[in-house]
Amino acid sequence: MNSLKSDVVIIGAGPGGYAAAFLAADLGMQVSIVDPEAHPGGVCLYRGCIASKALLHAAKVLSDAEDAKQFGLNFGNPQIDLSKLRNWKDDIILKLTSGLSSLTKSRNITYIQGYAKFRNSNELEIRSVSDEKSDDFKVLTFQKAIIATGSKPAHFPYAPLSESIMDSTMALQIKNIPKTLLVVGAGYIGLELGSVYANLGSEVTIVEAGDTLLPAVDRDLVAVFAKKQKNLFKEILLSVKVEKLTQTDHGAKAQIVSEDGEEKQMFFDKILSAIGRNPNSQFLGLENTNVKTDEKGFIQTDETGKTFDENIYAIGDVTGEPMLAHAASAQGKIAAEAIAGENVIYAPRVVPAVIFTDPQIAWCGITQSQAKTMDIEVVRFPWGASGRALTMNRTDGLTKLFIDRKSKRILGMGIAGPEAGEMIAEGVLAIEMGAVAGDIGMSIHAHPTLSETVMEGAESFFGQATHLYRPQTKTKPTKDTI
Ligand code: FAD
Repeated sequence: MNSLKSDVVIIGAGPGGYAAAFLAADLGMQVSIVDPEAHPGGVCLYRGCIASKALLHAAKVLSDAEDAKQFGLNFGNPQIDLSKLRNWKDDIILKLTSGLSSLTKSRNITYIQGYAKFRNSNELEIRSVSDEKSDDFKVLTFQKAIIATGSKPAHFPYAPLSESIMDSTMALQIKNIPKTLLVVGAGYIGLELGSVYANLGSEVTIVEAGDTLLPAVDRDLVAVFAKKQKNLFKEILLSVKVEKLTQTDHGAKAQIVSEDGEEKQMFFDKILSAIGRNPNSQFLGLENTNVKTDEKGFIQTDETGKTFDENIYAIGDVTGEPMLAHAASAQGKIAAEAIAGENVIYAPRVVPAVIFTDPQIAWCGITQSQAKTMDIEVVRFPWGASGRALTMNRTDGLTKLFIDRKSKRILGMGIAGPEAGEMIAEGVLAIEMGAVAGDIGMSIHAHPTLSETVMEGAESFFGQATHLYRPQTKTKPTKDTI
């Protein structure tokens, strides 16, 4: 048994864990990270955000090539070299994760490859990845620990994973392109990966237990996606419950029940189960500490990330929604600062969310259903009036702003269209800085860009958008009156 010592130990090296570790080291602490992978990166890099976005980029190139036929460019039938595509994606992951290893070394952080488990509120047991059950383990003594162990795909208990029944991790390996694919779950992971496979040539059917796609997202934004995607997916079945998934000799079978109780069996080459994610809190030895979880296993913390145990913090997916990489990183930095003794709390005004389908959907701040109970004006700028959108042959997009009628403050933004994920940063900045409509309307946005739709959306609040007629209802402030 080896003994190690650290001021701060971080368990899990995803975007929450490594961001916390790097800042803790920058603030002068002696830091260790424990993670089973060879390099930092976590789910986000290895089997989440980065892996999926590489494949979605390839999917978008294929779909753009198809769209280009409308303006006279025909590239012929696409030739897909799957192993090259897979290697390209894996190379991106290796570049990023080994870059993180260099940054870890430069900061003198000790990186320990293995699985950690609490012995008590000051000690961890670390076992090697190759032999998790062996009696040979290291003990690491710490003053403070940050749990950043993230989450894993939720599975149907009656549908073991197999060659034909995949979770998101397996789907990202793109071993082959099935002729037919069923995606169970129309959340963002199901729709993103469904789009990848559909663009690569699979006939994709999507089933969703709820009565709508992306229930948390505003309907007008989802409508932009649904219109563009109606030719991509073979079928989207809503209010349909999957009862059972079984591997068959030639693929997989789904037993489904529709809303009116009709039972049906459907056969596919492969099935992707994308029904949500569960926290990695089960095998951490939390029973040896004062850390508490909720009934679903998410670790409970205060606004600094501190758990019910004075010495232990928790951040990222393992603490629950929004279960997004950028939220995990922001929480990680707050926890590191709190441990360093700084007076900080995690209280962002908004956390942006992006769905990287085509069109992308991005939003931040209040949504349509929240706006209903407030004195809010929703201004919409349809991309049909954007010169840049026309030059991209993408007039299907929509930008909208939620503006408080009295204070004129921007309280929310929603965008559906290509690059929505890049554009939403303006909404985040506006809301965090308490910007009013005039701030955005009077800030000169470069022409021709999609970002002009944000500026003109804000101008249209006053009835003064150049490219959109709307009767004038209020006086636009001057720079001096903002
Ligand atoms: P994770 O990234 O989950 O990392 C946790 C790490 O802890 C892992 O390496 C794990 O192996 C390790 N660990 C677990 N148990 C132990 C233990 N006992 N000892 C040591 N180490 C342990 N989010 C976005 O913001 N944008 C996106 O576009 C996006 N796309 C996604 C696409 C897919 C397909 C998936 C699955 C997720 C996506 N997410 C996206 C979500 C994002 O990946 C997570 O929100 C993010 O990774 C959470 O970060 P984290 O630091 O909490 O933990």
